[in-house]
Amino acid sequence: MAKQLHKEIRMKQISFPRYAEYNCCIKYGLEHAFHNVRYIMPPPLTRQTEELGERNSPDYVCTPFKTLLGSEIEALEAGADTVIMTHGACRLGYYGELQEQILHDLGYQCELINLSSYATGKRRDWLRLLKHVDPKLNLPKFIQVARDTLKMVEYVDDVTAEYYKNVGFDATDGEYRKAYRKFLASLNIADSRADIEADYRTVKREFQEIPLDKPDRPLRVGILGELYTVMDAYSNRNLEQKLADMGVEVHRWMTITNQVVHYSNVKNLEPKIKDLCTYSMGPTSTANIWFAKTCAEHHFDGLIHVKSANCTPEIDIMPVLQNISATYKIPTLYLTYDTQTSDVGLLTRLEAFYDMIATRKKALS
Ligand code: SF4
Repeated sequence: MAKQLHKEIRMKQISFPRYAEYNCCIKYGLEHAFHNVRYIMPPPLTRQTEELGERNSPDYVCTPFKTLLGSEIEALEAGADTVIMTHGACRLGYYGELQEQILHDLGYQCELINLSSYATGKRRDWLRLLKHVDPKLNLPKFIQVARDTLKMVEYVDDVTAEYYKNVGFDATDGEYRKAYRKFLASLNIADSRADIEADYRTVKREFQEIPLDKPDRPLRVGILGELYTVMDAYSNRNLEQKLADMGVEVHRWMTITNQVVHYSNVKNLEPKIKDLCTYSMGPTSTANIWFAKTCAEHHFDGLIHVKSANCTPEIDIMPVLQNISATYKIPTLYLTYDTQTSDVGLLTRLEAFYDMIATRKKALS
């Protein structure tokens, strides 16, 4: 009887590997949608996370596989008993199965919820997943929480975009950065939609009140690339912050809001790049080519293409980006990241790129 009771109230300790600034949203969604889930926040990504992933991964997988695996191991060490692995339109779709095998071989008696097994496009399979997580699922409540969580993701993306456009011109002693960090920290403890809305309103007001020293026409750079590396600041070695610190207005279209939540409504992006390519080349290729073209048409000063080592879809779009660069005369920097990419090496390349686009801008004006 006692055993039965214990079984009934047993909480799942679920984790999802570190991914940009989205883990607070995953925490909110899982803990509010399911009555039997406690979210285990994996530690922030560090060199140790990458080493753990690298040591236990096959050599030739792309870098996000290694980083995600390292983060999963750290989450299990922090007390998780279940790990969620996402799916995707590239080889990401096979990663869950392989990671599950690796984690079990390492001796972790965990469950890996592989979203690829449920992503058939059929509603009944998603429902099967939800019931698997929580057999006593309250569907109306789940739908409401899913809406709130998507709103939270949207706010994270909106605030992050505004932050990188302006933080390089903060006229105070770091108030812009403080407001952004405070916003992310408060989302981590948000307990209701009202909390989420209040956090969003607060940071927007604070951003407006902080004085900026911004020229009319600052250097503008568009960042594009592979879904994980381009969004995750640790994986791209703080690329956006480094550029902002040089006094650059940084723009990035690739976010979960744009690519995952709204992308299906924007499938008309393909006709917009018909002059550049005929076929889709991978999960993010159409959006990246469209964004590069849009930045070029809007006279941005440069583009930076971010990809992980061994990422085939992003390698495929490079010739198209070279065509955009040549046609619109827009300088483009190509960055490839692996677990060995050094901060200093990146900074040197960015400084050279910055000098080049700043000199060019002066010469053209
Ligand atoms: S998009 Fe590229 S880096 Fe990302 S999972 Fe797919 S192949 Fe790997």
